[in-house]
Amino acid sequence: MKVFDTHFHLKGTETSAQELVKSFDEAGIERVCLIAPGGRTLGTPTEPNAGEASNEEMHKGNQYLVHLVREAPDRFVGLARVNPLAPGATDELQWAYEHGLKGLKLFCIGWYPEDERVAPIYEKAASLGMPILFHTGILGDGRNSQYHRPAGFEVIKDFPDLKIIMAHVGWPWTDEAIAVAGMGPKFRGNYQIHVDITPGAPLLWRKDVINKAVNYLDEGVLVFGTDAGPGNCVSYGKQVIQSIKTIFTELEIPRSVQEDIFWNNAVALYGE
Ligand SMILES: [Zn+2]
Repeated sequence: MKVFDTHFHLKGTETSAQELVKSFDEAGIERVCLIAPGGRTLGTPTEPNAGEASNEEMHKGNQYLVHLVREAPDRFVGLARVNPLAPGATDELQWAYEHGLKGLKLFCIGWYPEDERVAPIYEKAASLGMPILFHTGILGDGRNSQYHRPAGFEVIKDFPDLKIIMAHVGWPWTDEAIAVAGMGPKFRGNYQIHVDITPGAPLLWRKDVINKAVNYLDEGVLVFGTDAGPGNCVSYGKQVIQSIKTIFTELEIPRSVQEDIFWNNAVALYGE
């Protein structure tokens, strides 16, 4: 079964595209969304967005990504990063699009998904046909997770041409994420809001979460991701793939549904 990893973090210190391709071969990953390095999200309790990278800094990460993707366009899909609260965000996204990047990764820190200041970047991404991958769920590193609750993403309905992916099934707000993603196909007849099954949920919960997500949501909604990085691509990537495959087998998920999650749904978003 072919694997499309829709969630992979670059550090900006990768040795070469060839090295990366080699590790994806070893991990059994055919195609992969690489997230541009950059962004700091340091913040303080009163100014959570303080210290976030400017769009000039984000541009360096996006440039780095463009070069990498060009080395192996049949294997890599590039996800740009921008700071939507800083000047130049929509221009940076336009630049990324013109240079072959296919999506955007946003991290709500110091702003909620429904924040009106972010609407221009949603409109831009929608007009360029670039899906936005959002972190959703708890951060688990002590930072406040208030900005990342799945219910905030109901606002995406106001941007009917925009497609988003909520990462980690919004763990621990997994029912909330599933309910929000269920709105699209169940009530609108399209797959506007997707969910990646990237862990996320610790093993104790994972099977239950996947059971509910797979059985409640339409077959076009879920995508697979590892959330790995260059340092642990092979070991951790393989482990995540195996963990999901084992759960699918235990839950007796039909092979065609597994193929949709591991491959077809990501292809529908980003192309083959
Ligand atoms: Zn991630």
